[in-house]
Amino acid sequence: MKTYKFKLYRHKKNKYLHYSINASASIYNHCIALHKRYYKMFGKHLNQFRLMKHIAKLRKRIKYWQQVGSQAVQDVIQRIEKAYQIFFKQHQKGTRPPNFKKCRKYKSFTLKQAGYKFIFNNKIKIGKQVFKFSLSRKIKGKVKTLTVKRNNLGELFLLVVTDYQQEHIPIVTGKNAGWDFGLKTFLTSSDSKSIESPLFFSQLRNKLKAANRSLSRKKKGSSNWYRAKDHLNRVYEQISHKRRDWFWKLANQLTDEYDVLIFEDLNLDGMKRLWGRKVSDLSLATFLEILETVATNKGKLVHYIDRFFPSSKTCSCCGYVNQKLSLQEREWTCLQCNTTLDRDANAAINIQRVGASTLKLGDVRQSQTAISV
Ligand SMILES: [Zn+2]
Repeated sequence: MKTYKFKLYRHKKNKYLHYSINASASIYNHCIALHKRYYKMFGKHLNQFRLMKHIAKLRKRIKYWQQVGSQAVQDVIQRIEKAYQIFFKQHQKGTRPPNFKKCRKYKSFTLKQAGYKFIFNNKIKIGKQVFKFSLSRKIKGKVKTLTVKRNNLGELFLLVVTDYQQEHIPIVTGKNAGWDFGLKTFLTSSDSKSIESPLFFSQLRNKLKAANRSLSRKKKGSSNWYRAKDHLNRVYEQISHKRRDWFWKLANQLTDEYDVLIFEDLNLDGMKRLWGRKVSDLSLATFLEILETVATNKGKLVHYIDRFFPSSKTCSCCGYVNQKLSLQEREWTCLQCNTTLDRDANAAINIQRVGASTLKLGDVRQSQTAISV
């Protein structure tokens, strides 16, 4: 599977796609209302196929809804179903059921096999209209789904998912390493490498602050306010693009160098509570997601250890556990063996050790690499 993202050229016709997204939002909200009402009346979950039948019938009468292809309607219902299934499984953890969405916040619709056609190089027919997009790279493989998505600036994108499988010849290096995330240094490894987070992050953060300040000075709803809001959204977008770019490059670099990469299982909510906004700035979760994708493609492995293992507090030389270690201490001396330990490097060594010992042979075989654990 491979996903391509293309930007649509700006054109008057694009308003039709905006209509379609808005109509999808209307269908979405109608379905949510039906789900809620059904549960209230019968105390049961509304079956998605019954809902599909009902909506298909209703769609014949409501002209506005015909803006959306029938497959996109099915996709809306499937999205809701998926959200409900996650809710059923994880409601103890505090997951909420899907809820109404403002039209403005509703972002996309998806078509499967029908309802669109690629013509020539960079043109696509969606419904009855032809749209032009910027073909930044060639589409390889058979197209599985097409999603039309808008961002906060009202720009439109095509997300094309194909069945293309990239072929990688696995480079076996026989190396594995444990990695610790930090606030100052992005990653520290058990073989004493450190990867700093790039400078442009903090530069862009200043830009973000300025944009936020400028917005707060404007009168809400005025045209200056809207302009400032667009600017703020553009800065957000810039940050996210730069960050993702850097993540992909780093993920490729690390998976070239190591066969197995070991991390601590993240408790992001807990970390946010402890350290505040900064953690989400570094967006570790996004990085790990990208790293896992790259690793799978290359036949490498990302392995996690239990987050309750005290990786920072344990001395990597003798195993003594320093219960008094606080978050602020960057360095500490072991009371038992007198070694001075760098907080991040010490944690990385522990993560590597625990990770390597909990690796199952199956995991390794799955990653098609032979490593010396
Ligand atoms: Zn020690």
